[in-house]
Amino acid sequence: MFRSNIARLAAFDVTVIGGGPGGYVAAIKAAQLGLKTACVDKRGAPGGTCLNVGCIPSKALLYATHMYHDAHANFAKYGLRGGEQVTMDVAAMQVQKTKAVKGLTSGVEYLFKKNKVTYYKGEASFVSASSLKMKGLDGKEEAIESKKTIIATGSEPSALPFLPFDEKVVMSSTGALDLDHIPKKLIVIGGGVIGLELGSVWARLGSEVTVVEFAPRCAATADADVSKALTDALVKHEKMKIMVNTKVVSGTNNGSSVTIEVEGKDGKKQTLEADALLCSVGRRPHTAGLNAEAINLKMEKGFVCINDHFETNVPNVYAIGDVVNKGPMLAHKAEDEGVACAELLAGKPGHVNYDVIPSVIYTNPEVAQVGKTEEQVKKEGIDYKVGKFPFSANSRAKAVATEDGFVKVVTDKKTDRILGVQIVCTTAGELIAEATLAMEYGASSEDIGRTCHAHPTMSEAVKEACMACYSQTINF
Ligand code: FAD
Ligand code: NAD
Repeated sequence: MFRSNIARLAAFDVTVIGGGPGGYVAAIKAAQLGLKTACVDKRGAPGGTCLNVGCIPSKALLYATHMYHDAHANFAKYGLRGGEQVTMDVAAMQVQKTKAVKGLTSGVEYLFKKNKVTYYKGEASFVSASSLKMKGLDGKEEAIESKKTIIATGSEPSALPFLPFDEKVVMSSTGALDLDHIPKKLIVIGGGVIGLELGSVWARLGSEVTVVEFAPRCAATADADVSKALTDALVKHEKMKIMVNTKVVSGTNNGSSVTIEVEGKDGKKQTLEADALLCSVGRRPHTAGLNAEAINLKMEKGFVCINDHFETNVPNVYAIGDVVNKGPMLAHKAEDEGVACAELLAGKPGHVNYDVIPSVIYTNPEVAQVGKTEEQVKKEGIDYKVGKFPFSANSRAKAVATEDGFVKVVTDKKTDRILGVQIVCTTAGELIAEATLAMEYGASSEDIGRTCHAHPTMSEAVKEACMACYSQTINF
């Protein structure tokens, strides 16, 4: 069955294709549960999109640029002098980012060794449901026999047909994370998570950033008031220009600049020019190179179809993470699926609660949410209550002068069970964990409201928003 230039044959209980947060976690868990496991990744460094060109590098740049912006915009208000003299060194920022990425990817290699996962640097493709061909980055091929295979091949950025990526002038997130200079003008197409996070990075360093968003608002998966609070803050503090209800009609990469034509809802057209453009209109599943046709893998719109047990239509072939037609494209969703899938493969119970997956936009302020938004419960005809508490009335926020934002809790009016929580504030990404845990345990707003929270902390705003649901706030 295998071509004669294939050097060796290896056999495993489980082979995971893709070493991102879905794949590497699945491989480690499977090995911990006693299964002989391999993980194949074609990137050359494990950790997938998340560690190499996603979550981690973006957060490194967001942190560095936040400090720079804070020094210029806010130090004086704390009585700290000299903030305006802080200078930036983009090359040094990129060095720190790369150091963080390298530390984490080599950490995954160490974890593979520690847990006895065989790690292949190469591309895996199906020969049959139980046979894979592994084309190593070193050019060598290897045949892998595997009782079970997990597809965890992730996703890739979508481009607009008239603006292919060159990663210099027309960039995906990968190019926008790697810039060695600050573009004077930057157009961002798509005001979703990537557009707002990476738009913030370059706006803080002085780029004139214009976000062109097709939908009526940015961060469209959040409630309207949450999206408005974030948009207002980005416009006010980071001087971002945000055009909503606007579609891109055409575009030209001029080599060292880019021109696009946009059209508003009223039909009015205008031309925008910039030195660089970030296209962040979503990501699509990545299955190129898998030879999925060899096993007649069922896919819909490019996503691999799975059931509640991560099973594809092909016996003994499973799929998890960004590549599947289930749940949001988030690293922690992929990780949880990796653990649950490995547990099921080892004959144990494994489960992911798709109703309670938090998401965070790491702008300033951050936006975090879990469960349903008010708009969703309204649409579903649920009888609900809303409790809200602004950070302007929170003592910690006042003390540190970061009063932007609020906590919004949505509960079932009859049972008081928490249905969703949205938070806008500097540390929303950390605060959402309490709400997520509460929802996982089916808590009521009264459960949180009657739980003692340390003072002074931003978390007291979560408690107060809950009190607003079942009773009344004290401090507002
Ligand atoms: P991936 O991480 O995409 O990994 C798949 C891996 O499979 C890749 O390394 C790929 O090279 C490899 N592969 C593909 N085909 C083959 C093959 N045939 N053979 C071998 N290897 C193969 N999510 C968050 O939760 N929080 C964040 O803050 C966040 N920030 C992000 C920022 C950016 C700029 C981007 C782009 C994404 C961000 N995400 C974030 C999303 C997150 O990165 C993804 O949801 C996550 O990486 C998905 O994990 P995965 O394992 O499914 O796939
Ligand atoms: P997204 O879905 O978050 O946002 C895309 C935006 O582009 C939407 O608002 C959409 O209305 C808009 N859009 C689409 N086509 C357009 C067009 N032709 N013109 C103008 N606007 C258009 O996608 P993304 O920002 O590319 O991120 C991709 C994925 O990566 C997301 O699903 C997200 O889950 C993940 N991600 C997560 C994080 C995080 O958790 N902090 C960070 C980055 C990326």
